[in-house]
Amino acid sequence: MKKYIIITLSVLILPSLHAACPNGKTYPVTLTFDDGPHSVLTPKVLDVLKEEKIKATFFVLGNHFPGGKANPANKTSYSILDREKAEGHYIASHTYEHLAHAKLSQEQMSSNITKSLPLLKDYLSPILRLPYGDGSFRSKNPETQRKNDMVMATVKSAGFKHVGWDIDTNDWDVKKRANLLSDTLKQICETQGGIILFHDIQKNTVEHLKGWIDAIRAEGHSFVGMEHFVPEVAKPLAESCEVGGHPKVKELNDSVKDVLKKIK
Ligand SMILES: [Zn+2]
Repeated sequence: MKKYIIITLSVLILPSLHAACPNGKTYPVTLTFDDGPHSVLTPKVLDVLKEEKIKATFFVLGNHFPGGKANPANKTSYSILDREKAEGHYIASHTYEHLAHAKLSQEQMSSNITKSLPLLKDYLSPILRLPYGDGSFRSKNPETQRKNDMVMATVKSAGFKHVGWDIDTNDWDVKKRANLLSDTLKQICETQGGIILFHDIQKNTVEHLKGWIDAIRAEGHSFVGMEHFVPEVAKPLAESCEVGGHPKVKELNDSVKDVLKKIK
């Protein structure tokens, strides 16, 4: 009888302990949310993360805070950042306007990267994610690669480390997101865990987030903070970022040219 009970219990318990990756391993992952804050959806994401005891990273756009704290219209956006900070999440720059940086002039890219700083420097970690990741990828085309080098040098000169993603959920893409959970679980195995990209301006993401978190945990994977993959995230914003407090784009551009000379 005792043996029967043990076998029965094993059958009930074991499926929840199995690892779905083909190699039988489980991995750490960290959640990131881009393009916010959204006045209605971001607080809902925060509710889920609080319930699940998960610390995430929010890559925010500066143009949600036009005119800074002096502008009463920004009250909700700043109160969301205050909540993110109080609940232990990281807040990082996604630049000011959602532009493809490798298609901009050097002056435009410098301006779009530094413009968020006076608005958000009390909140930002020293990491930045370019919109679309544009400028952070390797290209076989020498001219494209030169432009990409220029974007990355500009990010670095402004005092930021660029942080992309390992696992792309494509949660903004209505067609691709039909298979979001299975695609995400597959990528977690392929990349051996890492940084997961979501968007907190997507209603569908907010509605399904808890279920996806449960499913990722059921595979045996664990949720960690960004510092697990990028220790620099926990550091304060460098003094060099003060350039953004009084945008000195010309000086920044000169330092970018210095970096570019070294790249060549
Ligand atoms: Zn984005």
